[in-house]
Amino acid sequence: MNIILFGPPAAGKGTQAKRLTAQRGFVQLSTGDMLRAARAAGTELGKKVADLLDRGDLVSDEIVTALIEEQLDNNKDAAGFIFDGYPRTVEQAKSLDAVLAKRGKSLDRVIRLRVDDDALLARVTQRFEEQGRKDDNPETFKNRLATYNQQTAPLLPFYTEQGKLSEVDGMASVEAVSGSVARILDAAAPVKKKGFFARLFGG
Ligand code: AMP
Repeated sequence: MNIILFGPPAAGKGTQAKRLTAQRGFVQLSTGDMLRAARAAGTELGKKVADLLDRGDLVSDEIVTALIEEQLDNNKDAAGFIFDGYPRTVEQAKSLDAVLAKRGKSLDRVIRLRVDDDALLARVTQRFEEQGRKDDNPETFKNRLATYNQQTAPLLPFYTEQGKLSEVDGMASVEAVSGSVARILDAAAPVKKKGFFARLFGG
């Protein structure tokens, strides 16, 4: 099962992705984490994207889609993928459909975590104090939020049209959000009915 956890920065996508990884064996693909790792390792890619990350601007569609393709191929036996922070533009969403199709896969569900702007700002301010991520400072965060509204929110009608969008109240507790996400996934992947012989002989 392949899903997108969708929402603005600090909506709780990473937290929920980690829970799903532990509970269902899905692989989390966070382009933000991959880019930060590249920067920390001082790779060519890391150097190229460092300023964009610090300003809270988007990295090119080609770069992030290449990172996703690489991880899909490195995790061929995964029970499923959770896309976290990707796609962020309509172009990326189209690329994701294409790279999945090329591998005989498709996207099952897009789960949107809805959180008020005020709550996002409060969360990110706390994260800034705890983790010191440069792009979490309130000024940069406002830019990230504006970028989300301009470039990423247009994906909502894109996925609504595909009939794949579900919404969750991201203001609820981590536990409650997890519960809502689990219900959506369970409904999207109904337990397969066993065939006649399987019922007779097990399996
Ligand atoms: P995140 O941790 O998902 O909030 O991402 C941190 C930063 O990485 C973003 O502000 C962008 O600069 C960059 N980034 C992460 N994912 C993407 C993406 N899908 N497309 C473009 N830039 C991205």
